[in-house]
Amino acid sequence: MTRARRDPRAERAGARVAGAGRPRYDLAARGEGRGRLRRDPRAEREAAQVTGDARPRFDRGHRGGAPVSEAATAPAAAAKILVVDDPAFLVAAVLDAPGGRLTTHDRQVLGAARTLAGASGAVVALAPEGAGGLGPLGADRVATIGDAGTYDPEGRAATLAAAVAAFAPRHVLFPETPEGGDLARRLALATGEALFPDVERLSASSASRPARSRRVEQRTAPPRLMTLAVDAVAPYAGPPREARAAPFAPAPAPDRSLRDARRVAADPATTPLAVADFVVSAGNGVTDIEAFMRLAAALGATPGASRVLCDAGLMPRASQVGASGSVLTATCYLAFGIAGAPQHLQGVTGCEHVLAVNTDLHAAMIERAGLAIVQDAQAVMPALLAALEREGAA
Ligand SMILES: Cc1cc2nc3c(=O)[nH]c(=O)nc-3n(C[C@H](O)[C@H](O)[C@H](O)COP(=O)(O)OP(=O)(O)OC[C@H]3O[C@@H](n4cnc5c(N)ncnc54)[C@H](O)[C@@H]3O)c2cc1C
Repeated sequence: MTRARRDPRAERAGARVAGAGRPRYDLAARGEGRGRLRRDPRAEREAAQVTGDARPRFDRGHRGGAPVSEAATAPAAAAKILVVDDPAFLVAAVLDAPGGRLTTHDRQVLGAARTLAGASGAVVALAPEGAGGLGPLGADRVATIGDAGTYDPEGRAATLAAAVAAFAPRHVLFPETPEGGDLARRLALATGEALFPDVERLSASSASRPARSRRVEQRTAPPRLMTLAVDAVAPYAGPPREARAAPFAPAPAPDRSLRDARRVAADPATTPLAVADFVVSAGNGVTDIEAFMRLAAALGATPGASRVLCDAGLMPRASQVGASGSVLTATCYLAFGIAGAPQHLQGVTGCEHVLAVNTDLHAAMIERAGLAIVQDAQAVMPALLAALEREGAA
């Protein structure tokens, strides 16, 4: 039996929609609606848009009917929040959040926890009191462990152990930081479980870390306790999650062996650049070094400089930022009158927020910055000082 011969020209003529102007065709009537469904990328994009955000954001991860219910919050304009009512399992993300403020590393730990939780699990963030905004970062549940202001590793470890016993998470992730790493080791000791530290690659099915001076890579199925290296996993970028409060029975106060444990504030003026959290730098565009130093002190920032100023003897050599100076890990870098030569930019690759003040809109430093002021540094510095004085900070 032979297949009936098609006459595409006749089919096309039959599908033509009557009317003047550009020829239009009704493809469904022509039979092309059968078989594989035709995609409509524009409609898909509109359907994936998360409402309520000023900047357009799209949920590309949940097109395929994941077992989550979407509970739109009361105002129509609010973002759709993903709710996992009855998770198959929990993944705990233990956050440093110094002073209640989440670090980039904390965000990455939440992102890693979301990767392990997938569609059927839920992420429970175990954060110090005051850490907020966890839902958009991937937390389905939030429980408070300790106070961000006080240094009490033993008390925090006891509270963490109680939380882990109460929630029985499938995995517990920490940032590999002095604080997070210490807590992870204390928990491993208390529970007698092995810790897989410094994970550099993580997926739902495997975790790997370097060993023996990076000559060996150790790989395993994601273990229960692990610490995550910085920049190993991207933060969560999907739609906001519920961040529902998850209470648990507090732990009895532990026998503290530490007699005196407190944080000693470091003087930003003498903090080594490589470990400083906030660095303000001057370049060749700064002529009023005195105003610059007063501003750095008022901001509580560590002063830095470009090589040109160090070569000219206007700033000490120890303050040079860049490839042949110090490589920064600062959360915030504020550059006054610096062009942004490649050798200088190498020193700020690890900075989370970069701000630049420069008269040249096309300076590489402005291109690198998240926020730029195109203005004379000599005018901006006193204006900032005056604003700080008004706020009572200087
Ligand atoms: C091997 C090698 C290693 C180096 N290592 C380093 C290093 O570690 N660190 C480093 O910094 N450099 C280093 N350099 C030097 C580097 O190449 C640049 O020469 C240097 O960074 C330039 O410094 P600058 O941006 O302050 O000065 P300039 O290049 O002179 O730029 C000055 C900037 O200030 C702006 N400006 C001018 N007037 C004003 C104003 N009134 N208000 C605001 N902005 C103004 C200008 O638009 C310009 O963008 C190295 C060079 C070499 C060859």
